[in-house]
Amino acid sequence: MKTNEKPAGLIMIFGATGDLAKRKLFPSLYRLYKKGRLSDRFAVVGVARRPLSNDEFQASVKASVESAIKDNGELEDFISHFYYHSHDVTDSSSYLELKSMAEELDTHYSLEGNRIFYLAMAPEFFGTIAEHLKADGLTDVDGFKRLVIEKPFGHDLESAKQLNKQIRKAFSENEIYRIDHYLGKEMVQNIEVIRFANAIFEPLWNNRYISNIQVTSSEVLGVEERGRYYEKSGALRDMVQNHMLQMVALLAMEPPIRLTTDEIRSEKVKVLRAMRPIEGDQVRDYFVRGQYGKGHLNGQEVPAYNQEPMVDEQSNTETYVAGKLMIDNFRWAGVPIYIRTGKRMAAKSTKIVIQFKDIPMNLYYQTEQTLNPNLLVIHIQPEEGITLYLNAQKSGQNIEATPVKLNFANKGIDDMNTPEAYERLLYDCMRGDATNFTHWDEVALSWSFVDKISDVWENTRAEGFPNYESGSMGPKEADRLLEKDGFFWWPVTDLDVEQC
Ligand code: NAD
Repeated sequence: MKTNEKPAGLIMIFGATGDLAKRKLFPSLYRLYKKGRLSDRFAVVGVARRPLSNDEFQASVKASVESAIKDNGELEDFISHFYYHSHDVTDSSSYLELKSMAEELDTHYSLEGNRIFYLAMAPEFFGTIAEHLKADGLTDVDGFKRLVIEKPFGHDLESAKQLNKQIRKAFSENEIYRIDHYLGKEMVQNIEVIRFANAIFEPLWNNRYISNIQVTSSEVLGVEERGRYYEKSGALRDMVQNHMLQMVALLAMEPPIRLTTDEIRSEKVKVLRAMRPIEGDQVRDYFVRGQYGKGHLNGQEVPAYNQEPMVDEQSNTETYVAGKLMIDNFRWAGVPIYIRTGKRMAAKSTKIVIQFKDIPMNLYYQTEQTLNPNLLVIHIQPEEGITLYLNAQKSGQNIEATPVKLNFANKGIDDMNTPEAYERLLYDCMRGDATNFTHWDEVALSWSFVDKISDVWENTRAEGFPNYESGSMGPKEADRLLEKDGFFWWPVTDLDVEQC
């Protein structure tokens, strides 16, 4: 629900010297400021353990904006709104100092008692911070109070429930903004528009016309320095439980009766409820796990996952997941939705391919005597746009249908950079629009789906890990997952087809 487009307020960032704050949050706040989307009445308090003066903190904010954004005028004025509080979040006494600082800023900038608490910290602190915020009176305000929480939201359903219970003591569900930054991406938000604003897609968006859907999110990077975290997480928890299932929910949901937060979320929840649970022996038939071995990327040799820092040589952790999801409802019965995500793959790409069913009869000659299926490709990153693959007659040729493509590149249209996901999400949170944040019901249903798979994987050693080479598109078993159904993965690179 949108309230005020530019409310005054205090943004308190816990973990203000961390990577996320520097790379994403400060530059995003600055972009909002430059676009006039921040009220003049705003202040930011950075909280972290390291002792820093306000001046030092402002200098670090300035440096992170400068390294992210070239055109950076009015930076001095922007950083003058930033303040720092050195504070160990586990130390109770320090919250009272934070409270009086917040009150002073409230008066100084006339912030109307509006507060956003952004937890850009390791998840083990989320519950403690929320409890202290309430116990020490930081949430006793006349204006709004909101809690923004980073992923991961728990490690499984049980721990997510515990965390939720803790933060719900201090914040109500509609005050909690659980970040899934994929939901801030331009083309993820566009899924709804493409579906619900076009007469040509929605009537075909069902099991009568769609044969399968493929959602790929591949990374070239390996685990980097995150080995310690990743060993406990793996691709299933890190990517599937949140980003992949969120994209599936948006692709499969029914049109909401209104574009309000509650209506959209309730349609997404129905999709997650209709998702067929995969458990026990079925996991082997529906899911494939992989772990990268060494290989070559950009001409350089890169190490296997089990040779990365902080990773066990015998690691059973998956860096790749492919799966087949079935949504058992009227619209989707019988249509497989394939997902795959992995590290150290051949290309960085997030892409959705909707493959339409073959037409009943091919009247046109082609060498292989089959027509290419119509495809709708939604490019999420790094390119942003849509491509529609059709069949048409090439000029000067006999009656022969040739695949052609219609392309819409989102970025190219006015040469403007599309806003960063974090910029949109921060703006939404300030306006009180929770549509693109994850509701507890979605978190719980996603964990309950994923837990059944991780139960099997954690209790059986993966055969033949590492089972895919760095720089490839994943293990061969993932290809067989589709071959069994008569399909294959469409490449993440553009198909070699003429543009019309
Ligand atoms: P980080 O390790 O770089 O930063 C952690 C911050 O927490 C630092 O400012 C540190 O000083 C502070 N901190 C740690 N212990 C503290 C304590 N006891 N008291 C007070 N401050 C303390 O972490 P990050 O990469 O910025 O990630 C933060 C959160 O965001 C994590 O939940 C992570 O999963 C999530 N996240 C990060 C990214 C990213 O791109 N970095 C992306 C998605 C999600």
